[in-house]
Amino acid sequence: MTLLLACVFVLAHVSAIFFLPARAMQVSYVFLLAAPLLATVTAVRRGLREGWRASRGWLLMALGMLSWALGMAASLRQDLFLDNPNAAPGDSTLLFVLYGVPILLAISASYVEGESILVRAIDVLLALALGYLFYEHVFSVVTLHGANTRAQAEYMAAMLDAENVFVLVAAAIRFSASDRRHEFQFYRAVLTFAALYTAVSAYYNHFVALGDHPDFGSLRDPLLDVPFLAFALAAWSESQRIARRPSPHLVRLVRSGSPLLMALGLLALSLVVLQEHFYVGTGGIVVAVLGYGVRTTFTQAEHIRNEEGLRRQSDELATMAHTDSLTGLPNRRALDEVLEHAWYRPGMIRDRITLLMIDVDYFKQFNDTYGHPAGDACLKRVATELQLAAGRPGDLLGRYGGEEFALVLSGASLQAGMTVAERLRQTVESLAIAHPDSPHQVVTISIGVSSAMAGLRPLDLLVAQADSALYSAKRDGRNRVAAVDD
Ligand code: GH3
Ligand code: MG
Ligand code: MG
Repeated sequence: MTLLLACVFVLAHVSAIFFLPARAMQVSYVFLLAAPLLATVTAVRRGLREGWRASRGWLLMALGMLSWALGMAASLRQDLFLDNPNAAPGDSTLLFVLYGVPILLAISASYVEGESILVRAIDVLLALALGYLFYEHVFSVVTLHGANTRAQAEYMAAMLDAENVFVLVAAAIRFSASDRRHEFQFYRAVLTFAALYTAVSAYYNHFVALGDHPDFGSLRDPLLDVPFLAFALAAWSESQRIARRPSPHLVRLVRSGSPLLMALGLLALSLVVLQEHFYVGTGGIVVAVLGYGVRTTFTQAEHIRNEEGLRRQSDELATMAHTDSLTGLPNRRALDEVLEHAWYRPGMIRDRITLLMIDVDYFKQFNDTYGHPAGDACLKRVATELQLAAGRPGDLLGRYGGEEFALVLSGASLQAGMTVAERLRQTVESLAIAHPDSPHQVVTISIGVSSAMAGLRPLDLLVAQADSALYSAKRDGRNRVAAVDD
């Protein structure tokens, strides 16, 4: 439907010129103003539909289209009101040249990523510098009235070609690395426009304006409508499809390298301008290099800050993953890891590992009597006291699960382990936490101790032996220590 309307637009342009040959120039101006304005309005509409972040690119495109439309308006003024038949009046030429500046800005800035105000400000500064250099350059070749010689007009056409090709290549690079739907659609629209406009404008400038028909009003004018209509169509359609997935490597490369496009454009133009305006050209080079450098420094700093945040987060997650939330002790996962680490140490001198399995006695009844919250408080208290009593650097006390704790002693003999275990048992008993349903009347623990040279036998065996020692301590009346030696 929209494609049909675009065709009708071009056909109307063709037939109006054909049937109104006397007014062909005026007719062409109407259509050549309408086409870029249509593109402007469509881009604004699309930008508003995309939400504020993704709207930036579309609005910049709208600005580029508007600049071109204004160029056409300036040309109209020169042709129809000032009666100036010159092919390249300074004002319209400059506006035709400036169309590329916002477009290049849209291409070189990131599509949706949140950049700091400063980075955006640098982008805008580079764009302004580019615009200013274009101004200096255009008016160093032509006057407001236009080109004085054919060579000057040809030079202007060549400069437009160079600009168009630069925008086209930049757009193609961004398009090739677009992996998100909105980004893909945006750069597809930009690339469609840039490709058509580069071709049409080169043909028109060299073979129509500089050729047989310097003024508007020829049957080849409607060609100029095509890029704008094609852009409007691309901006209008919101298909869901992404044709292909670019490699993530390319996406990263292009996304981080695209700001270079703007700086390169400015640098290239500065080198050209340098030949007539030394200071302006030098200024352009300085702005390009410094602007890009400062921009890179700031984005780099942002990345480093993000990375630090991520690392902190991942450290916190790792700590959380190894900590028991109730008691704050290392959890089962941490215990397993420490045990395995101590057990399997290839090439290291083997240590004796002594393991204490600690279990609170009659804890189910404690919960039944006082309730679960009181049970939790009791577990916390026991954990804290065990920690204080066990505290030898290098040893690890953790919550093994439920009301069970484990203490890993490295380099300690079974005898030493028994001594520690007895101390822990006494510590908990002496807390005198009331437990009327226990024969001991207070909360007590039973401990099973096992000991072995690390790595000689399966680790599971050490755990199983501590468990069976604990079981025999339970069987023998609880509130006691039992051991199994290998
Ligand atoms: P034994 O003397 O044989 O060890 O008997 P017990 O009652 O301590 O052992 P049992 O395995 O029968 O019950 C353990 C109880 O520990 C059951 C469970 O409700 C309680 N428990 C486990 N984890 C928690 C916890 O995080 N908070 C509370 N409040 N209770 C817990
Ligand atoms: Mg238990
Ligand atoms: Mg128990």
